Amino acid sequence: MSDIFAFPVENIIKCGNCDYILQKEKNDNFEISIDLADMKEEFNKTINDASNSELFYLNDCLNYYFFKHKTIETPNDFDSHCPKCNKNPKTITKTHEVKSFPNYLCIHLNRFSRKEKINDFVEYSTDDLSLGDFFDVAI
Ligand SMILES: [Zn+2]
Repeated sequence: MSDIFAFPVENIIKCGNCDYILQKEKNDNFEISIDLADMKEEFNKTINDASNSELFYLNDCLNYYFFKHKTIETPNDFDSHCPKCNKNPKTITKTHEVKSFPNYLCIHLNRFSRKEKINDFVEYSTDDLSLGDFFDVAI
C-alpha cells in the first residue's frame, strides 16, 4: 500500500529571528491535509472584500498548503536554541518540502475547527490539476 500512496516530505523548522534551520526531518506522508478554517482565516485577512467568500478552488488550497509558512510560538518542550543568532526565538516557522508525489494522491480537506464547520464549496478540476509547481518548494 505504501508503494501506491506514500510520498517523502521534509518537515523543516526555522528560527523565527534569523531563518536558520533548527530541525529537518524526513517522513513518509500518505495524504495532504489542508486546514480549511486556517486557510479561510488567512484569506479573509488578506482580502478586503467583506463578502467572506464561500467558494474555494483546489489550486488555492494547494497553494496555501505549500507556500504558507506557519509561524507559531515556540513550544516549551522544543529545544529552540539557535546557533546562528545565539538566542531562543519566541517563534518558529514550520514548513515542508515534497520530494516526489505518489501515483495516487489523497487530499484531505479538514472542515472542522474548534469553533465551527467550514461548509464552503471547494471546486476542482482534475483536467488542469498540475502538481509540478509544488515540487521541492524553495524556502
Ligand atoms: Zn536564529
